Amino acid sequence: MTYYEHVPFRENIPAYALGALDAEDVAPLEAHLQICASCRDELAAYRATSDSLLMALPPQQPSAALRRRLQRRLPNAQKAARPHLKWSFGRVAVGLAIVLLLTLNVFSILQVRALQSQQAQLTDQIQNGQMALAMLSYPNTQSFPIKEESVTGSLLLDKEYNNAVLILRGLPSIPEDQTYQIWLIAPNEERTSAGLLRPQTDLPFISEPIYSTHDLANFVGIGMTIEPAGGSDHPTGLQIFRIDF
Ligand SMILES: [Zn+2]
Repeated sequence: MTYYEHVPFRENIPAYALGALDAEDVAPLEAHLQICASCRDELAAYRATSDSLLMALPPQQPSAALRRRLQRRLPNAQKAARPHLKWSFGRVAVGLAIVLLLTLNVFSILQVRALQSQQAQLTDQIQNGQMALAMLSYPNTQSFPIKEESVTGSLLLDKEYNNAVLILRGLPSIPEDQTYQIWLIAPNEERTSAGLLRPQTDLPFISEPIYSTHDLANFVGIGMTIEPAGGSDHPTGLQIFRIDF
């Protein structure tokens, strides 16, 4: 059998693989598949590609050979070779099915990314909570209450291990272009930034440990202000609280 004798069957294989082939074309194709190994291989390749489009994250590229065959089937390539190509219901359905599969695939990837970012935030919160619990169990940890307007909470401070954690609740919600900024206060009232916060306003918030590069022994207090997104070099906005320790 020459290549050209396969062509009418080959064209129907993608639709058949997706169960979208016109009923009248199914029986002849199935009869041909019985006797033609190369068309069976073609069908297997389409099935593998449509399965992997559905199942695989990240998406798999079709093999180079299959891609070339798909490209030959694009309307422009077809137009040159066969001006009277009729787009049957089956072919349109295949096109729509492929678009749907690709859309689902992109949607799945975006969903996985969103879940990963949520998971990272939750992991941070759990780690911060464990740090706060551990600090409460140290005999030298001092606890300073915070009560300013709607904001309540505590500063846990362990000078011996150079560690501090803020537990806050009731922070007013702020617009996207603002951030909360923590400041360590030196004896001469100079401020050193100790990090930016954007907590969820309706949940108690436990900060990351405030110790990384700063020796807390050099400071006499801690404060928090509202600053433009990205933070400031020194406080410029509304002070939320100040604690002297
Ligand atoms: Zn064949």
